[in-house]
Amino acid sequence: MILTVTLNAALDITYRVPRLEPRSSHRVREVVERPGGKGLNVSRVLAALGHETLVTGFAGGPSGERLRTLLAEVTEEGPVGDALVPVAGNTRRTVGVVDEAAGDATRFNEPGPQITPAEWDRFLETYDGLLHDATAVALCGSLPPGVPVGAYGTLVRAARAAGVPVLLDTSGEPLVRGLAARPDAVKPNAGELAAITGTTEPLRAAEQVRRRGAHAVVASLGADGLLALTPDGSWRAEPPRRLAGNPTGAGDSVVAALLAGLVEGLPWPDRLARAAALSAATVRAPAAGEFDRAVYEELLPGTKVTAQLVAA
Ligand code: ATP
Ligand code: MG
Ligand code: MG
Repeated sequence: MILTVTLNAALDITYRVPRLEPRSSHRVREVVERPGGKGLNVSRVLAALGHETLVTGFAGGPSGERLRTLLAEVTEEGPVGDALVPVAGNTRRTVGVVDEAAGDATRFNEPGPQITPAEWDRFLETYDGLLHDATAVALCGSLPPGVPVGAYGTLVRAARAAGVPVLLDTSGEPLVRGLAARPDAVKPNAGELAAITGTTEPLRAAEQVRRRGAHAVVASLGADGLLALTPDGSWRAEPPRRLAGNPTGAGDSVVAALLAGLVEGLPWPDRLARAAALSAATVRAPAAGEFDRAVYEELLPGTKVTAQLVAA
């Protein structure tokens, strides 16, 4: 089973309005609720690819209950196992208002419930237990209030001690602290890479991140594709064309493809080709955690993976 961790899961609510105007009332045309959070997106994509997967993290209060109900319902693509740890606080809601005239969205993200030290300890016990049955683990997203900033360092070390390959996808100080524990891979996007290295040159930044502890760095560069520095070699991967659509969750699909390719024993270039095609197909789907299967199958054969020269 592939395990994903989302410490700051969310109940994602989208309102559609004909046109968004400040200081006025709006008639909401449609309300859609979805399970939200980066690891949950990864697991949904993995399930759709036919992999057995389980999500853990925290869920609490009425919005936590709703999140779990929705998670149980997203099984048309494939079942996602629920090992979320109950907490006293209410799971955060993320609210997006889609302006149908402009075709864009305005988002409001709650910070998340305060996690108590006892709840964090309970999570660590659950996580250690789940690692026994995991073939790989992904640690995804931001930390809720109350969780120590070094949390990902602790979770990376536990995975490595259990012999489970671990991929970290987060930003800022939690990423810096996780890197020091030497994860098997990290997947920063261009902004996350620049923020922790101080350089906007992706190759130099990725080399620096690798020196700081990651065995492999897969940098996602939006429509420019992927840059990967791995123990087996370095490559760039690009989909055959740029796609217009909704890029939210494209990075989560990169993580899903990398984990799927790892547990299937694929060589790195094949993992990267799949990651580029799958993430592009995610841009063509309406929401994070989903992808357009026909677009994925159409793009995969034309996805280019080329060797990248790196500093010795
Ligand atoms: P997330 O919202 O999941 O956190 P991210 O910011 O981490 O996303 P991006 O770098 O934006 O990740 O996108 C991930 C990958 O998706 C890119 O590396 C690329 O392969 C693919 N991708 C993104 N935008 C496009 C696009 N417009 N056309 C084709 N592929 C794209
Ligand atoms: Mg992005
Ligand atoms: Mg991302």
